[in-house]
Amino acid sequence: MDSTTAKSQRSRGVIERYREFLPVSPATRIVSLGEGNTPLIHCPQLSKRVGRGCEVFVKNEGVNPTGSFKDRGMTVAVSEALEHGASAVICASTGNTSASASAYATRAGISCVVILPAGKIATGKLLQAFVYGAKIVAIDGNFDDALRIVCQLGETGDLAIVNSINSDRIAGQKTAAFEIADELRDAPDFHLLPVGNAGNITAYWAGYREYCAHGRSTKLPVMIGFQAAGAAPIFYNRIIEKLETVASAIRIGNPASWKQARAAIAESRGAIDVVSDEEILAAQTWLARQEGIFVEPASAASIAGLFKCCDSGEAAYSFQKIPEESRIVCTVTGHGLKDPDVMIGRMKELESVPATVGDVRRAIGL
Ligand SMILES: *Cc1c(COP(=O)(O)O)cnc(C)c1O
Repeated sequence: MDSTTAKSQRSRGVIERYREFLPVSPATRIVSLGEGNTPLIHCPQLSKRVGRGCEVFVKNEGVNPTGSFKDRGMTVAVSEALEHGASAVICASTGNTSASASAYATRAGISCVVILPAGKIATGKLLQAFVYGAKIVAIDGNFDDALRIVCQLGETGDLAIVNSINSDRIAGQKTAAFEIADELRDAPDFHLLPVGNAGNITAYWAGYREYCAHGRSTKLPVMIGFQAAGAAPIFYNRIIEKLETVASAIRIGNPASWKQARAAIAESRGAIDVVSDEEILAAQTWLARQEGIFVEPASAASIAGLFKCCDSGEAAYSFQKIPEESRIVCTVTGHGLKDPDVMIGRMKELESVPATVGDVRRAIGL
C-alpha cells in the first residue's frame, strides 16, 4: 500500500465514502474524524428471541469517534459551516450532540457553544464537551428550552446551528442506512431505533428511500421507533412538559422532526411505541451479557422495543406473525461508558482478598 492509499484508508469518513449523496462540493474542506463504517453485528441470541428463522443485526453506533451516531451528521454540518464562513457552532444538547459538535469544531479550528439542561447530562458526555474545549452553558430548563434559545441566538451573527434542525446533520446521518444496505446487499425488512428529537428516524428513512430510488437496494424497511414512556410526545400525540426517564439522550418533549417521524412511520407502515425505564435497563444489561455489546440506556430502547414486539400483546407492532427469515436491524445509538451512573449504582462494592492463588481460587469458587 503506498502512502496515499494508507492515508485515504485511514481518514475515510462518511463524506469520502458517500460524497455523491451528500450536500458537499469539491471545494468543501472536509472536517472528519473517521466516523461511520460502524459494525453491523449479527446477534444469535436476539435472533433466537425473535424466532421464525429471523436474523437480528445490531448497528453499533457507539464506536463512532465521539461514541455516538451524531458524528455522521456533524462531519457534514461542521464542514458546511466552515465553508459558509462560520466562526463558531452552537447547539442545544441532551449530551451527545455537544460531545460531537465540540470535537468537530475543534477539528475545524472554530469554537463551539453548547446549551444544556442543568443536571440532566450524563457524566461522560459533559466531560467530553469540557475536554474538547467547548463553551458550556447550563440552563434551568429542559432540552426543548435549550433548543428554543439556540434557534434565537443562531438567527443573529455568524453562529452556525448544528442541531438536527440543520438539514446537513440529517444528510450525514442517512449514511448509516447506506452502510446497512451495502453490507446486507439490500435494505433490511425491519428497522428499529430509539426516538428523541426524531432526526435519526427521519435520516434513516430518507437514506433507505434514496438508496432504493438509485437502484442500490430493492426494498424499504418497516420503521419502528421507540420513545421512553416518560418522554413520549409522538406516541401520545402531545407535547410533554414534565419529562421523566433514565434515557437522558431521548428526554425530549417537543421533537423538532415530529412531522417527519410521523411520515416515516406512515409511509413505511411502521409504528411508534413506548418502553419503560425498567424495560430499557433490563435490555441494556441483557445486550451486554448475551451479545457483548454495552450501550447507553437511550440506545437500549431499540432492544427493549424488539422484546416488546416479540412478547407483548400490547405492542404497537407485533412480531408474532412476521414473515419467516425476516432481517431486522436495531440501531444502538451511543456507547455505554458515556452514561454509566445507573449501572454503577447497581454494581456491588468489590472486596479484596489476600494476594495468593489459594485465596483467588476460593473467590472464584473453584
Ligand atoms: C441523539 C440520540 C438519540 C435520539 O436521536 P434523535 O435523532 O434525537 O431522535 C438516541 N440515542 C442517543 C444515544 C442519542 O445521542
